[in-house]
Amino acid sequence: LFIAFEGGDGAGKSTQAARLSQTLESRGISVLRTREPGGTPIGEKLRSLVLDHGHGTIDARTEALMFAAARAAHATQVIRPALADGTVVITDRYIDSSVAYQGAGRGLGAEGVLTLNEWATEGLHPDLTVLLDVDPSHGRQRRTAGDAKEDRLESEPDDFHSAIRHAFLALAEAAPSSYLVLPASSDIETLAAQILERVELLLLG
Ligand code: C5P
Repeated sequence: LFIAFEGGDGAGKSTQAARLSQTLESRGISVLRTREPGGTPIGEKLRSLVLDHGHGTIDARTEALMFAAARAAHATQVIRPALADGTVVITDRYIDSSVAYQGAGRGLGAEGVLTLNEWATEGLHPDLTVLLDVDPSHGRQRRTAGDAKEDRLESEPDDFHSAIRHAFLALAEAAPSSYLVLPASSDIETLAAQILERVELLLLG
């Protein structure tokens, strides 16, 4: 079972990914929790390269290719082998983040970014994507409260974050059966329970 957490900066993805993996592990289920950009040594290097450069200093295509390169390594070296072992893989961000940030945020368009990532991952898609839908003003409060210390996009205007939000929602609308869209503003316990309920259905099926 392959689960991705997606959403804008300050959505609380990491908290919910951690909660879900702890709950599943406590039931004796083998879980691999990972993140993007990152997840492999080369991916972590690409992460620092992209995040250490200020936003806008790497051109959009180069940035999209770097995220896709990190993702190719992640899919091939980490995610596929774990899934083959029957491990539940929980990733904090995946292809949708590229469609949202590089496609919508940086203007490359969804189609090209999707094609690039199809190729990079050889078509590996999550069984479930949990989209924590974040209202840009709520996200900004979380970001400035220090939730996302590495957040190089903190200074981006709200319309950048709004474009990202709508790109995430459009992906969910295009394939509703493989998405769970929840308001990021709900409290942590409520979200954790709703996510667990959906994952339990998938584990049973
Ligand atoms: O998820 P996390 O907060 O660790 O992401 C680190 C930063 O990378 C965030 O500022 C996020 O907006 C950005 N990012 C991006 N494009 C992606 C994935 C993440 O610009 N495809």
